[in-house]
Amino acid sequence: MKPIIALLTIAYITCCGISESAAQIAIGDGFPVDFAERAFQHIVRLAEIGPRSPDATGEKQAFQYICQQFESIGLDVEVEKFDYETFRIDKIDFTVCGQTIEPETIGFNPYFGRRHFGGSALLVGPDATGDQLNEMKLRDAIVVTTSPVEYFSLLFFNPRLIVYVSNSDFATLAAKDCLSFSLFVDGAFETSSSANIVAELASESPHDKEVIVSAHWDSYRNSPGADDNASGVGVLLELARFFTSYENDIGGSIKFISFGAEELGVVGSRAYLDGHRSDLADCILVFNIDQVGGPNGPAIEMLGGVEGIPDRIGFTQFPIRIRNRALEGPEGRWRIIDTGLIDAFMVTNRPPWLVDLIETSSKQFGFEIRPAGNLGADQQVFTQAGIVATSIGTSGNHHHGPQDVPAQINKDKLEIAGKMVANVVLLSFQQQ
Ligand SMILES: [Zn+2]
Repeated sequence: MKPIIALLTIAYITCCGISESAAQIAIGDGFPVDFAERAFQHIVRLAEIGPRSPDATGEKQAFQYICQQFESIGLDVEVEKFDYETFRIDKIDFTVCGQTIEPETIGFNPYFGRRHFGGSALLVGPDATGDQLNEMKLRDAIVVTTSPVEYFSLLFFNPRLIVYVSNSDFATLAAKDCLSFSLFVDGAFETSSSANIVAELASESPHDKEVIVSAHWDSYRNSPGADDNASGVGVLLELARFFTSYENDIGGSIKFISFGAEELGVVGSRAYLDGHRSDLADCILVFNIDQVGGPNGPAIEMLGGVEGIPDRIGFTQFPIRIRNRALEGPEGRWRIIDTGLIDAFMVTNRPPWLVDLIETSSKQFGFEIRPAGNLGADQQVFTQAGIVATSIGTSGNHHHGPQDVPAQINKDKLEIAGKMVANVVLLSFQQQ
């Protein structure tokens, strides 16, 4: 998924260097010197396979590679398959005042069943500011827009339909007086499947607490997905190796999970939540890793406190009508509009103890960490279900296209991500 940029609040804190009085770093001084290099080799290998979207030929190869890596580290692997429903668009007929235009993508809700829209369109130009969007009365409107207008910045206003057209088609429409349109969507529902890869490092002593460290293994269609998210998987695998050979008592169990079908709308993590309500009661933290090879950051979700979480821990707040359903279509021809989804993606569950551990860790290492709001990926599936969850990610790299190659990966950021996650995980067990 694309981060919910419009909903983000990112602030900078400049962190001090390593203080002499700093407490001992939880991971000790045994962090592997070749951590980043090993993580990078996973990225190279996964990117070589090519696109890893569900149904792509690379999916199976990537899947096998990750399973084999976990097994070679000495962990038992559970493969949890899941089915999901999606909608395949066969044809879109979009006509504005008699002129037929091919949309790049449309935003609607295929699961509501409405396939025909008509009326007067509202144009949102490529330079529209947040203030202008506020004044435009987008609620229930039929919005026609173009890049670089952010999808989530429009969703926030609950339009009925969003039609993305090319920049040149948008310029043509903007020059017209007439904006009456009709849009027909023809397509069919399909059932697809993917899988989550779960490797558990079970505690030897009878601790009952669990931390989940996760990174989605699928990539966006047509993308080798080096940064998004082979980088997260590389760091995840090397964290599994680090903790497997960790000599002291960890203090609980760690599940290393690589989720499938994240790019289609956090499908794998939603399937996991639905299938693991009982054992998630022991989960004290989910730490997700997504896009950690960029030049900027890393940012960690720390802002927002505890806001909007449900009483029933482990139960999803995502609307039942989209349960087990993709939020984005194959070939990217549609993306979902659903007001209940926005509500679920706004929830935060970052108690002071977690923010404290992240700040303490960054200070001890001397890392400059950007505190972030919701970054909008697999961790949000757990957050909205009342489970403490955060994520780490960088920015500044190309994503969701052929340019997401290993050459743009910053190895030093892989090491920062690895150390921060490892340290916060260990401190979390000590905290409980
Ligand atoms: Zn991602």
